[in-house]
Amino acid sequence: MNLNKNYENLEQSYLFSTVAKKVNEFAANNPDKKIIRLGIGDVTLPLCKKVIETMHHAVDEMGIQSTFRGYGPEQGYDFLREAVQKYYSAHNVNLDMDEIFISDGAKSDLGNILDLFDKDNVVLVPDPVYPVYVDTNIMAGRKVIFTDANSENCFLPLPDKNIKADLIYICSPNNPTGAVYNKEQLKIWVDYAIENNALILFDAAYECFISDSELPHSIYEIDNAKKCAIEFCSLSKMAGFTGTRCGYTIVPKSLGKLNKMWLRRQTTKFNGVPYIVQRAAEAVFTPEGQKEIKENINYYKENAKIISETLKKCNIWHVGGKHSPYIWLKCPNNMKSWEFFDYLLEKAQIVGTPGAGFGKNGEGYFRLTAFGSKENTLEAMNRFILL
Ligand SMILES: *Cc1c(COP(=O)(O)O)cnc(C)c1O
Repeated sequence: MNLNKNYENLEQSYLFSTVAKKVNEFAANNPDKKIIRLGIGDVTLPLCKKVIETMHHAVDEMGIQSTFRGYGPEQGYDFLREAVQKYYSAHNVNLDMDEIFISDGAKSDLGNILDLFDKDNVVLVPDPVYPVYVDTNIMAGRKVIFTDANSENCFLPLPDKNIKADLIYICSPNNPTGAVYNKEQLKIWVDYAIENNALILFDAAYECFISDSELPHSIYEIDNAKKCAIEFCSLSKMAGFTGTRCGYTIVPKSLGKLNKMWLRRQTTKFNGVPYIVQRAAEAVFTPEGQKEIKENINYYKENAKIISETLKKCNIWHVGGKHSPYIWLKCPNNMKSWEFFDYLLEKAQIVGTPGAGFGKNGEGYFRLTAFGSKENTLEAMNRFILL
């Protein structure tokens, strides 16, 4: 028995464990101080009413002989795929039913899709980055190269014609930076991918935070993207499904063999999302569900706005916060990420995430999130302004 040695090449991530350790230490030494966490990377509002009602009904169905369900259809139930299809058509993207694959979330599919690609492909990821893109490729022994996201390109890198990549990760709106590509910028990536016979893996997990009608929710809003992109989306941030688990992946048939290969991969290694959860997900796409989830998204966006406006008042350079729950700021006074972390914790008892934990270009930057309560966000920003 030999182990997969690629695992030895994974970089240990101490980011969240170090944050937790520092916060616990501070709390133990300062029991009278109220710490406010603006580093939360998970939703905090509960599932909406329509989803809960629908889920209860689906649970009951499972206990009755005539409505009980066993294994579901390979790509997900028609009722949910039709709902996703309709959701896309609102952005003028037309999908065939067999291009839509229901999943248990974007993270697993982002990792699993790599089963379809040769080990020798060159992978291009932006830095700073959501760590999943890098680690899944390292596990498979693939070479990863980075493209710099920085203040010069407002954390939205564009392709370098001298670099030949085969698999390209794009996350827009971005985690950790909150930056969003416009259609012209995404078109440059699509043109590059087609020219280089490359494939874009587009992570749209935060598309529901976009409120500017000119900004693309889906890469398929760009001409020719169906010839060069797979899209991953999730109900996690959209509807608070981080613990409930449901998402969808779009593999266009115009990508040739990939659509059938993904079906084969999924039918071999995956047996679908629970009926109860797929019904809950369907409820998200009903008019009532959409109204309710938008209230939650707007609650987070209001927090993001409060943070962004405070930073503006303090003349602190930042991106995100408008079409995203994330705010990515330049640490004041040229502090390093961890220096600023300690400073904020000591002086204002605010916890955020050091940008350096997301890649080399994150050094000197800091991530705040809008997933806290409005009261806490306001209180944190009142403290921030006094610094
Ligand atoms: C939260 C998140 C996801 C969603 O992952 P799930 O597995 O669907 O919960 C995907 N991509 C990014 C960048 C995220 O931050």
